[in-house]
Amino acid sequence: MEAVAMAKGVLTMAHKPLLLNCLFSRSSSITSKSGVIFPGLQHGYRRSFVSTSDATSARSGTAWSKRSFVVRASSAAGEEKQPSIGFLGLGIMGTAMARNLVKAGYEVTVWNRSISKCDALVSEGAKRGETPEQTTAACDITFAMLADPAGAMEVACGPQGAVKGLSAGKGYVDVSTVDDETAKAISDAVRKTGAEFLEAPVSGSKKPAVDGTLIFLTAGDKSLFERASPMLDVMGKSKFYLGDVGNGAAMKLVVNMVMGSMMASFSEGLLLGAKAGLDPKTVIEVIGQGAISAPMFAMKGPSMVEGQYPTAFPLKHQQKDLRLALELANKVGQPSPIAAAVNDLYARATKNGLGDEDFSAIIEALKVNVKA
Ligand code: NAP
Repeated sequence: MEAVAMAKGVLTMAHKPLLLNCLFSRSSSITSKSGVIFPGLQHGYRRSFVSTSDATSARSGTAWSKRSFVVRASSAAGEEKQPSIGFLGLGIMGTAMARNLVKAGYEVTVWNRSISKCDALVSEGAKRGETPEQTTAACDITFAMLADPAGAMEVACGPQGAVKGLSAGKGYVDVSTVDDETAKAISDAVRKTGAEFLEAPVSGSKKPAVDGTLIFLTAGDKSLFERASPMLDVMGKSKFYLGDVGNGAAMKLVVNMVMGSMMASFSEGLLLGAKAGLDPKTVIEVIGQGAISAPMFAMKGPSMVEGQYPTAFPLKHQQKDLRLALELANKVGQPSPIAAAVNDLYARATKNGLGDEDFSAIIEALKVNVKA
């Protein structure tokens, strides 16, 4: 409960001004890189790996195993023009995602608060956006990958924010991990301009971002989902359309709540095993062969044993997601004592200087009695 209260307090403080600024004033399907052409696809995108199904097939875990293929749509006047793309936020994830769009041949304009992070992409062919407003004004569809709700609100609705450059015909796709209230506030502000909005948080980390194998959890304007699908297919391996804005955020928070708890529990197990005299490498091997095996344990375990935590998913962002998941749980009345305890651990780890390490560094917080 304490963790929930703390979560609410932090969120409220961080959001209020921009939330008010933005608040002037909506079934699911899965698609994957392999499958059939989405019926609504009509733009001249180079490639599309699009398939559709309904909520039932998504829930029942329908497997999509058809081969990927290339679509080159054309109009009577010849090939339709590709949409110009804006990308706001070049952190660990944004840089890799924007790079894949550049590599795929799209005209991409990038903007980042710390300007120097644009340099590499500009040298690879991207244009530099002066502000979020100027970027959305210059582009057909703009993606935003910001750290947290406060950052997403600032970039969308702040001075020279993205919303100011939007108008009918344009699209704004927020791929940051935020809470449902933030997603709805940004959606309202975007839609007031006549532009369309899609929330599309991603499942997957740095390597899937680099490899273009992210999983998009989208909700919002279905027509923007269709227009943005070729770009989502460049950056990801599959995409879910979840209906009303807020559902994407909720899905992402559920996933990351489970992930944070799994990592904390795995850490505890490794340390318990070591103190009981077991070889941690053997512990990882045994876990890896049973029903509780997980790619995450196999991927992160060996470096955790070495005390190495190269940052793919910053620990501070894992804590932010647990905080937001607890707020969601509080709102819908779902007791989440495990997530609350785990959030407390990640919060203390962040406070004790582990925030910029990979979230697997949570094991360090269990080695010592970190300050409360
Ligand atoms: P990151 O490396 O910390 O990058 C955060 C980005 O947000 C940077 O571009 C930063 O700009 C920008 N930013 C933060 N506050 C801002 C503000 N107030 N105004 C303008 N820009 C601001 O984070 P990341 O790992 O790329 O993650 C980005 C988002 O994706 C987060 O929501 C995270 O939870 C989510 N996510 C991450 C992963 C992962 O494995 N890393 C996986 C799935 C989802 P500066 O460069 O100027 O600081």
